Amino acid sequence: MRNKVIAGNWKMNKVLSEADQFADSVTASLPNDDNAEAIVCAPFPFLPSLVEKAKGSDLKIGAQNMHFEESGAFTGEVSPVMLKDLGVTHVVIGHSERREHFAETDETVNQKVHAAFNHDLTPIVCVGETLEQREANETMNHIENQVQKGLQGLSDEQVSSTIIAYEPIWAIGTGRTASSEEANEVCTQIRNIVQDITSENVAEKVVIQYGGSVKPANIDELLSQSDIDGALVGGASLEPASFLQLVEAGT
Ligand code: PGA
Repeated sequence: MRNKVIAGNWKMNKVLSEADQFADSVTASLPNDDNAEAIVCAPFPFLPSLVEKAKGSDLKIGAQNMHFEESGAFTGEVSPVMLKDLGVTHVVIGHSERREHFAETDETVNQKVHAAFNHDLTPIVCVGETLEQREANETMNHIENQVQKGLQGLSDEQVSSTIIAYEPIWAIGTGRTASSEEANEVCTQIRNIVQDITSENVAEKVVIQYGGSVKPANIDELLSQSDIDGALVGGASLEPASFLQLVEAGT
């Protein structure tokens, strides 16, 4: 049985005092269940404080991006060494907003995934198609390409501990969720691709999340699908009550 993994992606929201309040209230009420994991992926300035506040609780703290180099002349960037040193455990890699606005490619995603494993961080690797690609029946080819290139060169063990987030771009922040069947169809295909590049055993272990307008009202239905093992959640992860309901759904 795979764990259910609920990850909040705050994007560029909140100030430090709001982040701290969130952590105080969520850590006080987080369900105690070994089968459901809760992660908050927050902006860099909040990470030290969130890691501190999450200590002793089951809440894990992730970043939303990082550079693939350990250090050097990369003004404005944050390295995997810095994240690890803070006590961050997860990092979102290749979110569609990063691919669109910050020129991330499957190649840089792959470099970052390797860097994450080299520094003992769990990557949450995002893949997903645009509306145009879906309407042109290119979804499966596009996803296959992103998964293969994103995971290239990883060991079986590394693939099995990667979290893959399927986020159809047309469903992100739009209020338009993929139906649970549509979402599951692609998540099943992702598991098949993982099986092709590794083994059945690895494919059975890999956690595949769905993301795109997930909220307390639709998460149960999504998590009831055979190949959806969790959710990567933007808007509905910002408020403690809503985030807690999402995590509760995974228990
Ligand atoms: P949303 O964002 O839940 O606000 O649609 C999801 C994401 O971008 O990870």
